[in-house]
Amino acid sequence: MSEEEKELLKQRVQQIIEKAKKQEKPSSEEESKSLMNYKCDKCRDMLFIIQPDGTAKECECRSLRIAEEKLKASGVSEEFRKKTFDNFNYERSVEVMEAFMKAKSYSKNFEKIRVTRKNSVMFIGQVGSGKTHLAIAISNILLDKGIGVIYMPYRDSITNLKQSITDSENFQREISKYKNAQVLLIDDLFKGAITKSDINIMYEIVNYRYFKSLPIITTSEKTIDDLIEIDEAIGSRLYEMSKNYVAEIAGEKLNYRIYG
Ligand SMILES: [Zn+2]
Repeated sequence: MSEEEKELLKQRVQQIIEKAKKQEKPSSEEESKSLMNYKCDKCRDMLFIIQPDGTAKECECRSLRIAEEKLKASGVSEEFRKKTFDNFNYERSVEVMEAFMKAKSYSKNFEKIRVTRKNSVMFIGQVGSGKTHLAIAISNILLDKGIGVIYMPYRDSITNLKQSITDSENFQREISKYKNAQVLLIDDLFKGAITKSDINIMYEIVNYRYFKSLPIITTSEKTIDDLIEIDEAIGSRLYEMSKNYVAEIAGEKLNYRIYG
């Protein structure tokens, strides 16, 4: 090997070392990126990616993030997220089994009936009948599909709404959450003492959703007749919307809970 060749070889080795050092850089950048804790490394949580031509393209993580945001806004707790069809005990009675089948069929047909007037579901039953579990199981399936379900625990929500009634801006903001939700879950409708003001608020929500054909998932200890007696407009609208999916889990069959 001539001196000239040796020199060339030395230069070549140097070049390779330099190149290797440069290639190492991105991987240390990778480390600092993961320290920043981006949920998506592709778009760094921007939900879009700038293309080489300068245009922005939606990142594939976008629909997942939107679903997560909807879940956060839903008011559905971690505890409720665990309530699914898989962990529902439907073997307690024929009525419970029927309610379970209706809930499953509703969630299966949801996309088909969504924009129709009869797009809602109602679970009537006592405490411990499993009505809330079934309503939540449906909500979880819809939330997983990125559909915005808003959970409205009736007693708490109506109390909050009434407290904000004098501040009209605040009240409108609160009530519009329930009026405009893609899907509204009203849990334990008309539980406890009912005032004229409770009825007015519920009428505003139910009537609005009825005319806009926005689905409602209702649970209540009241029967359909009770609901109509409390307020004919609310009761009959809810019934009309839920007609194809009304599940009543009532009766003595659940008394084994009491009598052992
Ligand atoms: Zn992304």
